[in-house]
Amino acid sequence: DRRYYDQVMARIEHERVRFINLEFIDVVGMAKCVTIPVEQFTNCLTHGKWFDGSSIEGFARVAESDMYLFPDLSTFAILPDKIRSSASSDPHRVEESVGGDIVARVICDVRTPDGESFDGDPRAILRQTLELAREMGYNYRVAPELEFFLLRFEEDGPKPLPHDRRGYFDLSTDLASIVRSQMVYALHKMDINIEASHHEVADGQHELDFEIADALQIADSLMTAKYVLKTVAAQHNLYATFLPKPFYGVNGSGLHIHQQLIKISTGANAFLNSQADYALSEEGRWFIAGQLAHASSICAILAPLVNSYKRLVGGYEAPVVINWGRINRQALIRVPRLSSDPNNSMRIELRCSDPSCNPYLALAVMLRAGLDGIQRKLSLPAAMDENLFLHDEGDRLRPRAPMLPATLGEALAALREDPLVRDTLGDTIYEGFLDAKGIEWTEYREQVHPWEVQRYLSVY
Ligand code: GLU
Ligand code: MG
Ligand code: MG
Repeated sequence: DRRYYDQVMARIEHERVRFINLEFIDVVGMAKCVTIPVEQFTNCLTHGKWFDGSSIEGFARVAESDMYLFPDLSTFAILPDKIRSSASSDPHRVEESVGGDIVARVICDVRTPDGESFDGDPRAILRQTLELAREMGYNYRVAPELEFFLLRFEEDGPKPLPHDRRGYFDLSTDLASIVRSQMVYALHKMDINIEASHHEVADGQHELDFEIADALQIADSLMTAKYVLKTVAAQHNLYATFLPKPFYGVNGSGLHIHQQLIKISTGANAFLNSQADYALSEEGRWFIAGQLAHASSICAILAPLVNSYKRLVGGYEAPVVINWGRINRQALIRVPRLSSDPNNSMRIELRCSDPSCNPYLALAVMLRAGLDGIQRKLSLPAAMDENLFLHDEGDRLRPRAPMLPATLGEALAALREDPLVRDTLGDTIYEGFLDAKGIEWTEYREQVHPWEVQRYLSVY
């Protein structure tokens, strides 16, 4: 794209960029990067940058390992200086940049030696799914709420930041809020806009709320934000963790995703009908019904770790039941109340996703599940609006609504049974993901956990 090309080249020149990080993502959501000196950049734009795909999780078998990175110039951004100098401490960097030099990052599409889009590239999967939505007349826009803990490593293990004894939305002037502002500022310099940031419920837990934007842009931003946040934290000797449930008995970290379908023909929010119940249009009702219908299988992609399912338990504001509602903090899907700007504030919020997911795959399967609901005009079950905190979810709700998978194993079993998700991900990613996660689940299942020893050994 000529327009981006001229802009990017002017910035490289003007800001004296020395190195360029070519970023991409593997199937299990790990950010990868190859750094090139700026002199190689134009060559890379025409011919791509070769890398060995066989060393990357789920990417390619050894026989088909030659892959090429082609920069998407619309994602060009200069790394803020604080991030740059510590980029070399990231174990995922294939080659290193030199501290102090100006470094830019650009997100890449992965292609095969024939120049075809590589079917194991998660970014390509999201692009294809967005194209499908466009053919149906919609743009998909999303706004994630990214939750994480700031920890300090002490002798007996990681601890929530010690001077951080605040709670939900407390106004705090302590170290954590300084760190958080630096995070927001660093992201802002890379054109990633955070609408709000606040302390979360647990000690040491924080949240950044992204401004709503096109899904591909948000997936790119999430991939970048995770390493930016880790780097800013490291400058204060803190560790930012996106592990969904770092501590037993304490709220976990989710990645709630607010979604909109915008009608391409009119620019209107397709989910909004001010006259209807919940101000929810028919398309909105079908979309939610589609996501509920595929909830168990897409859960494997949205909550992909063994640990993810330690978060999805009752009593911690995380969903356990496949349902929807408005005020219900434990609902899987929430339709928030409208503000004075209904076209913008009508959103469908999905809440089982957590920050360990691959955002490209997550958004692709969420969108496809919702579109499936629209195509099949699936009917929406009644909303569950009572506050589920007050009830024992096991006894009261099991008969009324299905439960989310209780383990990674259950989620993978559901994923194996869902042809729509298989079609969305394509065979390479679908099988690569099931293989990698199947091994992870088996390894965990075969362990004897401390809880079992403590609870059983002296009894049996
Ligand atoms: N931390 C909760 C979760 O695991 C969400 C809290 C909230 O509603 O923001 O999803
Ligand atoms: Mg939150
Ligand atoms: Mg939320």
